[in-house]
Amino acid sequence: MISPLQSTKTADVRMKGISLAALVIIFVTFVCVSLIAMDGWRSWTARKSQLQESEVSTANMARAIAQHADDTIKGADTALLGIVERVEVDGIAPVALERLHKLMVRRTIELTQLKGLFVYDANGRWLVNSLPITPANVNNSDRDYFIYHRTHQEDKPYIGLPIQSRSSGTWIMTVSRRINDADGRFAGVALATVDIDYFNKFYNSFNLGKDGAIVLVMERGVLVTRRPLLADSTGKNMLSTTIYKESRNKATGTFTVNSAQDGVKRLNSFRHLDKYPLFAAAALSEEEILAEWTADTYLHSAGVGILVLVLSSVGFYLAGQIKLRLDAEAESATARDAMQKLNHVLERLSLQDGLTELANRRNFDLALEEEFNRAIRNSNSLALILFDVDHFKRYNDIYGHAAGDECLRKIAQAARSCQRRAGDLIARYGGEEFAVILPATDVEGARMIAENICRAISSLAIPHAGNEPGIVTVSAGVDAFIPVREVNRPVDLIEGSDQALYSAKRSGRDRVCHNERFTQAA
Ligand code: GH3
Ligand code: MG
Ligand code: MG
Repeated sequence: MISPLQSTKTADVRMKGISLAALVIIFVTFVCVSLIAMDGWRSWTARKSQLQESEVSTANMARAIAQHADDTIKGADTALLGIVERVEVDGIAPVALERLHKLMVRRTIELTQLKGLFVYDANGRWLVNSLPITPANVNNSDRDYFIYHRTHQEDKPYIGLPIQSRSSGTWIMTVSRRINDADGRFAGVALATVDIDYFNKFYNSFNLGKDGAIVLVMERGVLVTRRPLLADSTGKNMLSTTIYKESRNKATGTFTVNSAQDGVKRLNSFRHLDKYPLFAAAALSEEEILAEWTADTYLHSAGVGILVLVLSSVGFYLAGQIKLRLDAEAESATARDAMQKLNHVLERLSLQDGLTELANRRNFDLALEEEFNRAIRNSNSLALILFDVDHFKRYNDIYGHAAGDECLRKIAQAARSCQRRAGDLIARYGGEEFAVILPATDVEGARMIAENICRAISSLAIPHAGNEPGIVTVSAGVDAFIPVREVNRPVDLIEGSDQALYSAKRSGRDRVCHNERFTQAA
């Protein structure tokens, strides 16, 4: 049987086990979550810095492309300025035109971006150019740059829409200036054609990855060229594109967008040319920018994943082991407690009489030894009463052994009711004989107690046909003295009381007698 106290103790050990195991699990979870969070944070910042680096590089590319376009157009325009001045000063006499032709040929060779230089008169007829042969009967009065200069007085270069050359069939960009006569009236147009392929060659020198792109766009919303170059690229309307909308109100900028054409997500940087109404943009595929980062992140995640797996496995294993160990500890504590309890019971049983629940003979012997020594030390009188049931053999014979047992229990109960001091000990000395040890008590005191006991037993009035008074009675013998070390022994006291008991029996029973030595002394 396990007492409530023991089961609480066991439950305590179990609770401690559970909370320790929970602590281990909480700690391991915390470490795992921290690992994942730290790696997540590292990965996120690496991604951010990779994108920032790419932003810088696309912005630098856009700057280089815009600068290149600016320089290319500037070169063409400088050549045009010279030609316009010549025509306006030297006129268009055949000699003057011949000299101008030579100059134009030289300029075209010098400036590699130039496809050709041309001068048209006020009606669009070809006056002079840089070509070896002037085609006959061609008229350029329908071209947009010609119409523009005829209707606009301003002294500024005009960048025309990309067109396919009438002379070569290739895509060109036109840069043109108005020529005035002496009165400031429209006298014709000087035109430089820039080979669009000149831009493409430059753009091919950039490392854009597989999905990168470069565009050169007129602010009027027309695509000049792009890399990669598609069949319908040049001259394409760009008004509805994100790049056009994004770049309309800002000189430079960067943005990320999913391409409407191929679905590729790109990081775009654009920049307007300083001097001319065009803008350039460079774009890199986000997937390509982040390719290295992605591979790195997969590797790190796999590493962290394995680490978390190992850590959590070890953690759960440890928690399980702790729980098991503490469970085992709790069980052994229960067993130990039960054993202690059993020992107490056995100890109690070994000192108690089973029938009357009074102290047994063994208990009596130990107590007498102890009290005897104490009396010696304190020089106190120690008294002993021995009392015996009268004619009990007969009682058994008349009423049966079971009734005899019941009678002994009642006698024990009555004797116990006469106990006055906690230090007194009532014991079953053997059979139907009882003993009472009375520390610090003289013979008179002991007699009084013995008489009380005899009276209490007689008062029970248990019928006993074999005893003269007709009820159960006892006879008691009393002895008491101050024991002296080395002189007296406990057995002296027992013998003294037994002698007195014998006297009580001999002199008629149902009475108390004390040791004869007191009678002799008296
Ligand atoms: P006396 O007055 O001289 O003491 O006579 P007596 O019959 O009591 O003495 P005797 O010693 O001849 O008998 C004691 C009897 O007590 C013998 C035994 O049967 C009985 N007895 C001893 N112990 C027990 C017990 O535990 N239960 C029962 N029922 N009887 C017991
Ligand atoms: Mg007896
Ligand atoms: Mg007897």
